[in-house]
Amino acid sequence: MKVYVIGAGPAGIAASIAASRKGHSVTLLEKNEKIGKKLYITGKGRCNLTNACSFDEFISNVVTNPKFLYSALRNFGAAETMSLVESGGTELKIERGNRVFPSSDKSSDIIKAFSKLLNQSGVEVRLNEKVLSLNSSDNKIIEIVTDKHSYTDCDAVIVATGGMSYPSTGSDGDGYRFAEETGHTVVPVVAALTGLRLSNMYGSGGKTFSFGNLSRLRGVSLKNVRVSVVRNGKMLFEEFGEMIFTDRGVSGPVILTLSSKINRMDFTSLKLQIDLKPALSEEELNSRILRDFSVTLNKDFKNSLDALLPSGLIPSVITACGIKPDKKINSVTKEERFSLVKTLKNWTFGIEGCEELSGAVVTAGGVSVKEVNPADMRSKLVENLYFAGEVLDVDAFTGGFNIQIALSTGYCAGSNIK
Ligand SMILES: Cc1cc2nc3c(=O)[nH]c(=O)nc-3n(C[C@H](O)[C@H](O)[C@H](O)COP(=O)(O)OP(=O)(O)OC[C@H]3O[C@@H](n4cnc5c(N)ncnc54)[C@H](O)[C@@H]3O)c2cc1C
Repeated sequence: MKVYVIGAGPAGIAASIAASRKGHSVTLLEKNEKIGKKLYITGKGRCNLTNACSFDEFISNVVTNPKFLYSALRNFGAAETMSLVESGGTELKIERGNRVFPSSDKSSDIIKAFSKLLNQSGVEVRLNEKVLSLNSSDNKIIEIVTDKHSYTDCDAVIVATGGMSYPSTGSDGDGYRFAEETGHTVVPVVAALTGLRLSNMYGSGGKTFSFGNLSRLRGVSLKNVRVSVVRNGKMLFEEFGEMIFTDRGVSGPVILTLSSKINRMDFTSLKLQIDLKPALSEEELNSRILRDFSVTLNKDFKNSLDALLPSGLIPSVITACGIKPDKKINSVTKEERFSLVKTLKNWTFGIEGCEELSGAVVTAGGVSVKEVNPADMRSKLVENLYFAGEVLDVDAFTGGFNIQIALSTGYCAGSNIK
């Protein structure tokens, strides 16, 4: 059969290799000047290719539509990905949290392996060729129109055009248009694995302070903090680990994870709470502060927190707890000390929303999986059309899960062309 694959990201590459290995004649159409442009920037240039955890753990890291992925992940999971890439000549290593990287720490080596495998499989790769539209008749794609050609010999078409984040890498939402134009439902897309914008900081006595004025916080990174999203005092989600303050709010590992959990919620009632001292109870923290204060009795409050907090946090924490910065420690009252303890354990901010989709690590939403068969990624509406990768309504947490989903669904589509 004559198979056309649209998009040379991990999904399209895996689909092309798989279809070619099944004996089909495969043309891979990519609008960029090279394959895997997004892959190149993944994992901060190191490419966290997959995650070598158990199947159940993998599934627990999928945020949207995990069940849809069962079959694709079982048939082509992390082990298959690793042996495929290694057969392309790139050595891999497994790091903390089962994250798999190229031994060289260079994403370009993953792309090199894929290039070699595409070549060995006899896939025709057409770069600098942008697909403009898919024309269908009688529930079949009969023509692919690109900016260079029109192909009417398409027995099967696999759409692997990615999501809508980092559009400069080529994934700018064309696939959603192809899906809609051929009668499919596209679940509205939103940013996932992204930073959060904060509106204000809550202080003692119900005071609020605009986040924009807390300039000293920018760039301050925190380790071993507990961050929760709360609504009306009720904790909805909680993560423990690292985060960083940004120009407009917060980012870093725990925030990215939380963003994927709350990206479809109404932000007006959501608050972000940071526990800066999760290892200590309020009583323990109070005793610790009393100890610290006993050696700084004659100092100003603002000069007594160095042992407790990174310097960038001190002005904002002082503002939040409501103690006058130049008050002498020996005149800080018990109530004021409790206010400091409360601030350190429950530092609270208003959430304005997620950062823009263009800067998100992945796109949530996409082609509705209700209209795609999970066994072969074939559309239930158009008989020779397949979808793979981030264009589908699936997304996962960080750790190599998203690339693996692209590879698994791509391989599934390519090896099941009928
Ligand atoms: C900064 C960053 C870091 C990341 N790090 C990781 C990581 O370490 N591990 C991980 O698992 N995930 C990571 N991800 C997510 C991961 O990169 C994506 O989930 C994955 O690349 C999706 O693969 P895909 O093949 O579906 O789409 P893409 O990789 O986006 O590929 C789609 C391809 O289709 C092409 N295309 C689009 N429209 C057309 C058209 N009309 N005609 C022709 N070609 C077209 C595009 O040019 C592109 O090459 C990261 C993402 C970002 C942005």
